[in-house]
Amino acid sequence: MRDVVAASPRARSLNLGVPGWPGHRAGQHVDLRLTAEDGYQAQRSYSIASAPEDATLQLTIVRVDDGEVSPYLLDELRSGDPLDIRGPVGGHFSWSVDEGGPLLLVGGGSGLVPLMAMVRHRAAHGSDAETRLLVSARSDDDLLYREELAALQPALQPADRLIIARNYTREPPAGWTGWKRRVDAAMLAALGAPPGSNCFVCGPTPFVEAVTQDLVAAGHEPRRIHAERFGPTGG
Ligand SMILES: Cc1cc2nc3c(=O)[nH]c(=O)nc-3n(C[C@H](O)[C@H](O)[C@H](O)COP(=O)(O)OP(=O)(O)OC[C@H]3O[C@@H](n4cnc5c(N)ncnc54)[C@H](O)[C@@H]3O)c2cc1C
Repeated sequence: MRDVVAASPRARSLNLGVPGWPGHRAGQHVDLRLTAEDGYQAQRSYSIASAPEDATLQLTIVRVDDGEVSPYLLDELRSGDPLDIRGPVGGHFSWSVDEGGPLLLVGGGSGLVPLMAMVRHRAAHGSDAETRLLVSARSDDDLLYREELAALQPALQPADRLIIARNYTREPPAGWTGWKRRVDAAMLAALGAPPGSNCFVCGPTPFVEAVTQDLVAAGHEPRRIHAERFGPTGG
């Protein structure tokens, strides 16, 4: 591992140099295996946060309290420690600028990670693919890449056709007048994604189930709805 940077007050991004990395598509993930001194092994999947164009491979880890692997990655792993990584994995949940827009990206909590790779990839190519990103987080402290998102937002829309919308499910920041509830059909409709949009939905399992059902009910084609489920609990 090369270095670690904060992705939010509660999450860290690990920047990795992976010898022989074959390259990846935005949205794919890796399988990371840890082996203890006694031989015990644990394996978890982590989405790739970096764009394919970036020189280092970035993973962003959000702490799961009582978790086995995420606290270790956040608290114990040191720069220079080796990591056993397999990948890239997953083809259906990926996008390339060649495929164009319109795109609808909906991320809950750490589900923003693979969507960020898509937004970074889009920016790296100066693409104007029509893109709507809805980020749902418990609070501002749980919002990943807050500064980077804020920097992208005012500079690029509407000329660049990138819309970034936020929703807070628990503690909105002071003075917040925007959405502060579970993502629902009305919120998705307000984003105005046209028919034919490629939809990517990622986050905790119940979040993904609810959003994909709402998208189907709103008339989005099931074959254009791509879902990635991160874990068993809700947020
Ligand atoms: C394709 C894919 C990509 C993923 N990408 C990322 C990523 O980019 N960043 C990231 O932080 N995580 C990501 N995850 C989740 C990650 O794989 C682990 O599940 C997560 O880090 C928890 O592992 P743990 O060992 O700390 O917890 P565990 O020891 O596995 O679980 C501890 C407790 O937390 C619950 N739990 C497990 N996973 C989650 C979860 N995701 N959310 C809430 N509760 C959970 C378990 O039910 C259990 O009660 C991804 C998962 C998948 C399948």
